Amino acid sequence: MVLTLKNYDVLFIHPNRSLKPEYGKNAKFVRGSFIFIPMGVFAIADFLEREGFGVKIINYPLEQYLNRNWNLADFLKKIDFKVCGIDLHWIHNAHGAISVAKIVKKVNPNAKVILGGYSASYYHNQILKYYNDVDGIIRGEGEVPLLKYAQKVKKNQSLDSIPNLSYRDSSKHIKVNSLSYTAKTLDDLNFTNVSLLKNAKQYFECSRQMMGISFNLPVGRGCPFNCPYCGGGQRAQECISGRKEVILRSPEKVVEDISNILNKFKISSVFFGHGTYPATLKYWERLFGLIQKENFDIGGDLEIWRLPFPKYMWLIFYKTFPRKDSSISISPRTMSNRVHQKIAKICDPTFNFPKKQINDLIKNANLYQRTLRIWLTIGFPFQTHLDVQRDFIFALKCQLKYGKSKSKPITIMNEPYHIFPGSPAHESPEKFGIKLILNSFPQVSDFFKRTKISFFYNAINYDTDNFSKTSIRNANKLFFLSTVLMHLTTGEKLKEREK
Ligand code: SF4
Repeated sequence: MVLTLKNYDVLFIHPNRSLKPEYGKNAKFVRGSFIFIPMGVFAIADFLEREGFGVKIINYPLEQYLNRNWNLADFLKKIDFKVCGIDLHWIHNAHGAISVAKIVKKVNPNAKVILGGYSASYYHNQILKYYNDVDGIIRGEGEVPLLKYAQKVKKNQSLDSIPNLSYRDSSKHIKVNSLSYTAKTLDDLNFTNVSLLKNAKQYFECSRQMMGISFNLPVGRGCPFNCPYCGGGQRAQECISGRKEVILRSPEKVVEDISNILNKFKISSVFFGHGTYPATLKYWERLFGLIQKENFDIGGDLEIWRLPFPKYMWLIFYKTFPRKDSSISISPRTMSNRVHQKIAKICDPTFNFPKKQINDLIKNANLYQRTLRIWLTIGFPFQTHLDVQRDFIFALKCQLKYGKSKSKPITIMNEPYHIFPGSPAHESPEKFGIKLILNSFPQVSDFFKRTKISFFYNAINYDTDNFSKTSIRNANKLFFLSTVLMHLTTGEKLKEREK
């Protein structure tokens, strides 16, 4: 009997943080396992399918979670594919992505292995230099470049005209094509063709269980700000993707996505993949107005990227989403005005979270009974021991005032941080009084190979002038434990802490 293999033109694999067999059996499936597939992967896969390519998406950590004995190599042996796209968006997948590339090449040496996402884009040269299992990297935004790549590979044509592509040519030289594609609009992309994902239903169920969020809803691309540790800010994106400005999807399209996803799956909440700031308040007002008209039974998780977030916006949020499964988050990282001012001076004049406005948020969250999460950290640039003591006191006061009753929706969250490639502090650590401990992609990959996934976030890649990596980890742990009452009384799972 002749067995016909299932055939795909392009197979997408979302990698795990680490593929060691012992992780498969003992992994603590907390947020650190990075089960989320970057939102753009669905749009890219759908884009290719509409152009006539056979496409499938595999979520490696999800498969492992559903079946601890699931084996990628065995799965790959049962299918055939010409191109394999592996996302390396979050740096935490650095080791996993390279390991997946290795397995793919071993099973199917003729397949082309392509990496994509911010982290792969940032390290494109080093990845091609050190890892022969990777044939190419699509830098920045991927839908059109990957389509062109799949077309050229199919016809065995030259790759030198494909925008955003870095690759090894036939003489093994690294070629870097121009970074010339960024999407002008997102409204012709489909972010909800989840039928392309193996075990889509379980993906959404487990996302809520493990990561605290059911569905990441794409709202736009870009960010106008430059927070010190973020690799997705304005300057980082300009350098990594060539994106100079923010584009937002039409509110109608976003609502269509919610409707599509609710028709297929039971989803308790959507996380909006873009935050609010003064220039976009009108956009959010319109979007929430449309959601209200649809009368969806769904919660919303919204981030405030920059203040103010006026009282009328709380009222609109209150009218749009039920209390259960909804939240508003803000990340001043510390309550120290002195630290905010220093950061404002060095990298972003809008980095400003006055105490008065935070107090207004607290007041409005209580008034409208919607969960407000205030994210702090220990290990922020210029933070002193005194700043940390003051943040402790602030958290303690919030806990005494709001921590004992379920009807008080204020939660102080905290987490240690990883400084992401491309972020202001990553590019100029000395300006921020930071010492980075990882200086090349092989070091980063090795770091994630060695750093076990744990309940308390431990992938810290820096020391500050005032805090060592170890004290950052321990002090954040202590801070978290001291505010635990608030986490319990707002009814949220502890594991939601890790972001
Ligand atoms: S952390 Fe700051 S820079 Fe990064 S996406 Fe959010 S607001 Fe933009």
